Amino acid sequence: MPYKSTYADITIPDVDLYSLIFEREKLPFPEDHPIFIDELTRKTYTYAAIKSAVLQFGQGLKYEFRWRKSDVLCIFSTNNIDYGTICWGTHWVGGVVTPANPGYTVDELTFQLKSSKSRCLVTTAELLPVAAPAAAAAGIPKSAIILIGPTRAQGYRHYTSILDPSAVTHFRRPKLTPSKDLAFIAYSSGTTGVPKGVMLTHTNLVTNLLQYGSVEEGYTTWKEDRVVAFLPFFHAYGLTCIMHHAIFRGLTTVVMPRFDLPKLLGNVQEWKITYLYAVPPVVLLLAKHPLIDKYDLKSLKYINSGAAPLTSDLIHAVHTRLGVPIKQGYGLSETSPVTHILPVENALTHPGGVGRLLPNMEVKYVDEQGNEVPRGERGEVCVRGGNVMIGYLNNVEATKGCIDKDGFFHTGDIGQEDADGILFIVDRVKELIKYKGFQVAPAELEGLLLGHPEVDDVAVAGVYDEGIASEVPRAYVVLRAGTERSDAKAVEIQEWLAKKVANYKRLRGGVKWVDAIPKSASGKILRRVIREEIRKEGEER
Ligand code: AMP
Repeated sequence: MPYKSTYADITIPDVDLYSLIFEREKLPFPEDHPIFIDELTRKTYTYAAIKSAVLQFGQGLKYEFRWRKSDVLCIFSTNNIDYGTICWGTHWVGGVVTPANPGYTVDELTFQLKSSKSRCLVTTAELLPVAAPAAAAAGIPKSAIILIGPTRAQGYRHYTSILDPSAVTHFRRPKLTPSKDLAFIAYSSGTTGVPKGVMLTHTNLVTNLLQYGSVEEGYTTWKEDRVVAFLPFFHAYGLTCIMHHAIFRGLTTVVMPRFDLPKLLGNVQEWKITYLYAVPPVVLLLAKHPLIDKYDLKSLKYINSGAAPLTSDLIHAVHTRLGVPIKQGYGLSETSPVTHILPVENALTHPGGVGRLLPNMEVKYVDEQGNEVPRGERGEVCVRGGNVMIGYLNNVEATKGCIDKDGFFHTGDIGQEDADGILFIVDRVKELIKYKGFQVAPAELEGLLLGHPEVDDVAVAGVYDEGIASEVPRAYVVLRAGTERSDAKAVEIQEWLAKKVANYKRLRGGVKWVDAIPKSASGKILRRVIREEIRKEGEER
């Protein structure tokens, strides 16, 4: 039998994301309250300024591009204080946003542009060497490439030229059906295969923002708290928990384009940051790095860690060093993303736990055969709720593979609840590798590696590297007959792949030579056998 969240149900209004954020009857904070501060330029955006820019960008899209409902805009950018404006302006005009990883190569971005059928590409001048050829390959004209950020580039229009305050204000919003119309298409490999478009509706985002916001209300207030955002807005964690949560609850957020430890510490000190969103490798630095002692970090009240497993040793280490509790959160792109949050009071009593199920959600646990197991036993975590995606874009097969007939989404993670109802993630049955919170899909790397002239067969798996508190991808390679197994060959294969993929997908776990890849009768890689070998290797060390 599925179990309901222990939190009382909350009311989810049938509205789209723009209406939830910008058409509230009563705003809980002043209109001139600062929401985003640019770390580099120190430019500040108040709620009112964002709302005005959002409306103008929405109008501009309609005027300049004859934007139609459901047209897709891709945003390929590092974190930027205009990021939200682009997303919400697109929503205003009924469009859909697909956020892309700014670390992508031309081929990776082209894939997303084509798969999502993006009409328009928003990027920064610095990313044009990748963005321009990808747009060309996907049939997006130069006139539909729009720049954000402080740097301009000749021949490209900046988004401020699209903001039209006066001439076009007569356009009206199209009518949206929040439970059907998409707000975002995120990319995730899910339980198997290569990245797929995760279709997130307005209702999915509205639900998760309210679910998450209702639990966070106990921890933060717009008057007292300030956040720093170095986690990328293109990923569901940064997108919902930081960017949307900031404007929804009025949390002033210092926006960093990328992670940089000295700059992060400087920001915490200067802006008296109270709430830090992190991933385990950053938590490791906070626990161990000598620079930490050079900064005044006393303003910090909580650290939130998510996107990948965090060990209880690290939780204790940070607490001992900074005196700050770490709350974990858990979720997936497919669940918009948050499904569980660990209450602060449980941070040290249940270290390593990812928390309690959010309101308006149900959970069940199933064994390998798909049969339900009693609560408290190990099983695949399956969740149901208004924040669960409606499916993968143009991929009915993959959707059916993870959302069962009762509407439960099968996460591919193995979990176990303790007697207090706190969930612990104890294993992962899906193929996914997480490098510093970023998704690496083994199938994608395997597909590329098979194109190497000396690779006969290959399987990619994640190995845990304690030194950086993260998994790293490793390739198990069967070399073509006659090719010598050598360290130099391993390096050559690593470098060959590095040229084809974003930095975070590199084979940092090395290359191992094997005689054969374990496979089932139907030719599927037996990943469990590889994982078992990795586990034994870890035990021998
Ligand atoms: P993504 O869609 O990129 O957010 O990846 C979701 C996956 O990240 C989950 O299915 C988990 O495998 C992993 N994950 C997210 N949060 C946690 C966490 N707190 N502990 C362990 N694994 C996590």
